[in-house]
Amino acid sequence: GKKAREWEKKADKPIERAAVLGAGIMGGGIAYQSAYKGTPIKMKDIAQEGLDLGLKEANKLLAKRVDRGRMTAAQMGDILNSIDPTLTYGGFDNVDIVVEAVVENPKVKHAVLAETEKQIDKDTVLASNTSTISITYLAQALERPENFCGMHFFNPVHAMPLVEVIRGEKTSDSAIARTVAYANKMGKKAVVVNDCPGFLVNRVLFPYFGGFNMLLRDGADFQAVDKVMERWGWPMGPAYLMDVVGIDTGVHAANVMAEGFPDRMQPDFKSATEIMFELERFGQKNGKGFYEYV
Ligand code: NAD
Repeated sequence: GKKAREWEKKADKPIERAAVLGAGIMGGGIAYQSAYKGTPIKMKDIAQEGLDLGLKEANKLLAKRVDRGRMTAAQMGDILNSIDPTLTYGGFDNVDIVVEAVVENPKVKHAVLAETEKQIDKDTVLASNTSTISITYLAQALERPENFCGMHFFNPVHAMPLVEVIRGEKTSDSAIARTVAYANKMGKKAVVVNDCPGFLVNRVLFPYFGGFNMLLRDGADFQAVDKVMERWGWPMGPAYLMDVVGIDTGVHAANVMAEGFPDRMQPDFKSATEIMFELERFGQKNGKGFYEYV
């Protein structure tokens, strides 16, 4: 939109090279979209299986484009080559932005962000793809909080147009402008929002999940709820959406929301998903959630 274009004009240094931390559902998607839209990207994980999964997903999306005649095999090869999977911080001193997309756990994120800040240039933007954790709170781990903001993509990254760019208390205009410019380059619609747990979209979405969990507690059948919401016109119902998001990520995020808004996001809101979590039914990522996936 217009505002995003205006922000982009304020970007004092272009984003030409990027890195993403975490090669899961979101990190893999961010790497794919960045490479597809022409920004080479390093993709770092702590586990080789994570990297393999991220690359497999990118491969699948690109192969579909080749099959449909929208891209040549050579173009596909070039795009894949511009994703650099790594288990180390090698080359991180040479990127313009790092997007953190590791697990939704405040302690892990604090540690990962502090460690990353030591590896990057002093004017590299550091952005978190957190779903719910306050950016001002995450910035407490950093020596250069002015370079830090939220860059919240939605799942699946290649298909969802919105990116929330979140301004923490100490975030500079330059960091916001450069992050918006990168989102624009990735073909996304950036919206700059203020900081609080859940930002904008998840403050709307979590009470909805809460309502769904309370319906289940009251005895509703999750498949029936999904069907009704689909017939009402939503692309998918809440149980299926939870499976897509990842039950583990959903539970972590619900905890952050309950802590951030104790008067509104009661623990009751997350009861059914918590049971799923205990049963290790994490959703599509491990083949079983509310539904089973083969
Ligand atoms: P995921 O479980 O699919 O992937 C997380 C990845 O991070 C794993 O591959 C793990 O090995 C890796 N990891 C853990 N610690 C690491 C470290 N120290 N360094 C590098 N990699 C590390 O999770 P996800 O769904 O991709 O979520 C990642 C982030 O994105 C979370 O903050 C989540 O809240 C947010 N998010 C998720 C969704 C969603 O729908 N799943 C949507 C928007 C934002």
